[in-house]
Amino acid sequence: MQHTIHERSWVEIDLAAFRQNLVFLKSFLQPGQDFLQIVKADAYGHGAKEIAEAALAEGAVYLGVANSEEGKLLRIQGIDARILILSPSLPEEIDEIIKYDLDPAVSDIVFAKTLAESARIAETDVRIHLKIDTGMHRSGIRLEDALNLYHEVSGLRNLVVEGVFSHFSSAESDSIFSSLQEEQFVALIAKLPEKPRYIHLSNSAGTIGGFGKICNLARFGIFSFGVDTIGGYSARLAPVMSFKSTLSQVKTVLAGESVGYNRDWRAPKDGKYGILPIGYADGYDFLLSNKGKVLVQNNICQVIGRVSMDMITIDLSEVPNARVGDIVTLLGANEPELRAEALAGIYQGSAYELLCQVGRRARRYYKSRDHILHSAPIARRDFIAADFGNSKLNQIISSALAKRLESAEIGDLIYKEILRSFFFNKDRDVHYRRSFAHEISFSTMNNAAFYQAKTRLSYLKILGNNYFVVACATSDESLRRYFMRTDVEYRWLLDAALDPGSEHFKVDSVRINGFELFTQMNLSEDSLEIRCSHPKLDALIGTEVEFEISTTTLYPKNSHQLSVFISELTQGVQITFGFPEELSRVEPVRIFSGQEKNPPIIREENRITLKTEASEWVFPLSGVVFTY
Ligand SMILES: *Cc1c(COP(=O)(O)O)cnc(C)c1O
Repeated sequence: MQHTIHERSWVEIDLAAFRQNLVFLKSFLQPGQDFLQIVKADAYGHGAKEIAEAALAEGAVYLGVANSEEGKLLRIQGIDARILILSPSLPEEIDEIIKYDLDPAVSDIVFAKTLAESARIAETDVRIHLKIDTGMHRSGIRLEDALNLYHEVSGLRNLVVEGVFSHFSSAESDSIFSSLQEEQFVALIAKLPEKPRYIHLSNSAGTIGGFGKICNLARFGIFSFGVDTIGGYSARLAPVMSFKSTLSQVKTVLAGESVGYNRDWRAPKDGKYGILPIGYADGYDFLLSNKGKVLVQNNICQVIGRVSMDMITIDLSEVPNARVGDIVTLLGANEPELRAEALAGIYQGSAYELLCQVGRRARRYYKSRDHILHSAPIARRDFIAADFGNSKLNQIISSALAKRLESAEIGDLIYKEILRSFFFNKDRDVHYRRSFAHEISFSTMNNAAFYQAKTRLSYLKILGNNYFVVACATSDESLRRYFMRTDVEYRWLLDAALDPGSEHFKVDSVRINGFELFTQMNLSEDSLEIRCSHPKLDALIGTEVEFEISTTTLYPKNSHQLSVFISELTQGVQITFGFPEELSRVEPVRIFSGQEKNPPIIREENRITLKTEASEWVFPLSGVVFTY
């Protein structure tokens, strides 16, 4: 199925080509040798999650990232394979390394000890790979100190030496130096009293060059993306990334006129040229000024003039039929001159860098051959690589917003903002409530100014902690504070005239899964906090439980309105207001955002209920105001 894409620029990632390259690379592995897929730098600009999934499907036993943040993003996106952090980690990253179950490379004892201590406190073991410097002279422990480090680290509790590895400095170009590195690495391994689970040395060029045969793991990077840094293999490798744009203007130029900044190009004769809406801000290197090549209607055309921040100009004199809207390929698409290695060669640049940079403002389309599988939004990369975009929940949120706003575009934007605040800023998983029911019943009492209000709340939610708080505030300010706190499950605003200390707000019962919790009052000047806990809660953390909270309080008659708001993302809402005979004229005003803007109202005698479908999503700050 061909699919026409109309954007200013976009990137196509061919996952079938990627897997084909892996099949080719795997043919160089020794029997029993496994491979680690490098996905650092968002998989060289290809999208770490998608590449990781494809590589795991092709048999990868490990993934390689540059730092804990990259590992964390993969974990959040549901990747549970082993992940090795290749670069040295900072002590500040240790908490995340442990929390997200990442395996750091270790090359000094101070870091190893700090890591071991944190692992001990967290009551866990951390797998590490010792990084040995065999001649690259970048990170890693120097060869002469390596055995000592191995012994010291092996003696630390809570650390498991899962691997020992080294890295070639010039696997694609200097086989003599690579052999030297390999010899030293092999000699070191022979001295280890016990073989770690993984011994690894070769990157993709090293593997193809026949290095690392004594190892049981190889690390595949650039070749898996279809880039041949050795030379002679390009026929066997399919470029995975293509970068494309749309011709946005076609113009005439007269002989002798210059085009672009600094008048760096002058027309040798009258002709035509075109404008593409991409520039160095899109990762198209400035050094491709006057040198780059692009494909228009199957003709290779020259980039003319300087690459600007957001535009480039191309010579169209050989393509008289070029039209605004024509698709232009700037990288990839199986065009030999547009392979990353060829393009980078034009300006003595690096194909690695080109892939990481190019298309960084563009949406990515994932495809298998010509079949488009899905796309990843542009904004994704600046927060969470959040696909989440694929998850059902997100599709629901996004389509609900689109429907509500009758604009897919605005819906998409708001949806990203919601994701940003829900999943990223607050750094938490999707903790939402289900089957939410809130009933508030007023009844008359001897006090002329107040109704007695009985409230009953119940819902299902993942238990995050072994306690939570029910809070009663007497000022908007203290109420707002309670909205900021994630350990507060229920908040009530008490009339300012009432003293929270005089039993004007009482918790009648707090239950989890039916058993009653212990409550502990904490009174301050403008609020009452009730801490609810039970020793049994520890065992329930992380599981979905049923909350039930019942209170009795007072509500001023002269308020003439009662607001009930949803404070968290909720699936399935029922809100009931029960009122005494004397309030015959109660009107509900619905302020809902979610799938349904106007959930149905059920009126009974002295009761009004609003109810959504059990499967419907309701967003925070939705609610209802009952006027009376
Ligand atoms: C990036 C990296 C690789 C991948 O190298 P390629 O040349 O892309 O195959 C392998 N090993 C380490 C340690 C790396 O940092």
